[in-house]
Amino acid sequence: MKIFEQSHLLNNLPKQFFASLVGKVNTIVEQGHDVINLGQGNPDQPTPEHIVKAMQEAVANPTFHKYSPFRGQAFLKEAVATFYKREYGVEIDPTKEVCILFGGKAGLVEVPQCLLNPGDLVLVPDPGYPDYWSGVELARAKMEKMPLLSENAFLPDYKNIPNETKQQAKMMLLNYPNNPTGATATKEFFEETVTFTKENDICVVHDFAYGAIGFDGKRPISFLQTKGAKENGIEIYTFSKSYNMAGWRIGFAVGNPSVIESLNLLQDHMYVSVFSAIQEAAAHALLSPQTCVNELNALYETRRNVLIHAFKEIGWDVTAPSGSFFAWLPVPPQFTSSEAFSDYLLEEAHVVVAPGVGFGEYGEGYVRVGLLTSEERLKEAANRIKALNLF
Ligand code: PLP
Repeated sequence: MKIFEQSHLLNNLPKQFFASLVGKVNTIVEQGHDVINLGQGNPDQPTPEHIVKAMQEAVANPTFHKYSPFRGQAFLKEAVATFYKREYGVEIDPTKEVCILFGGKAGLVEVPQCLLNPGDLVLVPDPGYPDYWSGVELARAKMEKMPLLSENAFLPDYKNIPNETKQQAKMMLLNYPNNPTGATATKEFFEETVTFTKENDICVVHDFAYGAIGFDGKRPISFLQTKGAKENGIEIYTFSKSYNMAGWRIGFAVGNPSVIESLNLLQDHMYVSVFSAIQEAAAHALLSPQTCVNELNALYETRRNVLIHAFKEIGWDVTAPSGSFFAWLPVPPQFTSSEAFSDYLLEEAHVVVAPGVGFGEYGEGYVRVGLLTSEERLKEAANRIKALNLF
């Protein structure tokens, strides 16, 4: 068969680090072993019943069988505005400040194409969600990494960004509660972010994918709650984690109207909006009592407590995450790399963890563990690791 060559654009896309991990895991599973997979980020709980029911009813509505309005249903944008006002006290104009997305990932990959020209500079967190790099590359832009270090509570230190970099940067990606570190942002940090980005004319794109998941009675804050934030950026929200709707592919961006207009314009050329029945169910999720979200948060908090307690008991010096459904754990000193440690856990304990280096060079020295399985399986993972006598 003739092979048609890929474009330079595709050839230059970053290599998918975790693809090789998936291959290794499949080999162990095929050998018939009982593998505990703590390496992925796929929510394990089903979508709440009232949302599924809303979808079932909406699917039968013939008006939704036609093309959706290009820029999304007005009722969903109004629900987004109601949600932001109710949950965060933030005023959003549903006609100018909301863009409906095919999931958060779509918006995160689209926004660099909306704002950047080839060669423009973006500030990205390291460690960070690898899809940020794909978006930057698709825009043929360049990135400068902002290290997230434990001594700075995994927040970037703007004082360490060189003057030239500050002046060149046009966009900055942030993500709190953070994947992979489990850190959360403070009000002061977001205030500092607004000051820094205003001074340097940088557009902030805050990825609020884990906005619903915060522990110890501390609710994650929205970037848009910060004075001046809406003038200086956008926030990207997804239904994937808050409502266990990862397979539905629905999210939204809110904030600065010029950025929202650019996202809508790009999408006008690429798609017709998300299936309206999904938009209807999404609006229902936002406008219904948030009991399911509170219950989900409590479930993750219980699992976090079980996991951290079990790992501390076996002598692993771990810190509890304050948000997201991930824990970020140090690699024991006898291992030369996060990949060597994760390979060892897979082979010897049949426990999968994600090597930190897959999230960037500053992720080296850590592994990411997901809270996406039952308490029993988390305890079982700790027992299997205990039997290796590493600590
Ligand atoms: N941002 C972060 C940090 C994530 O971890 C994820 C998913 O894992 C997403 C965005 C994208 O979520 P979705 O595309 O399902 O909305």
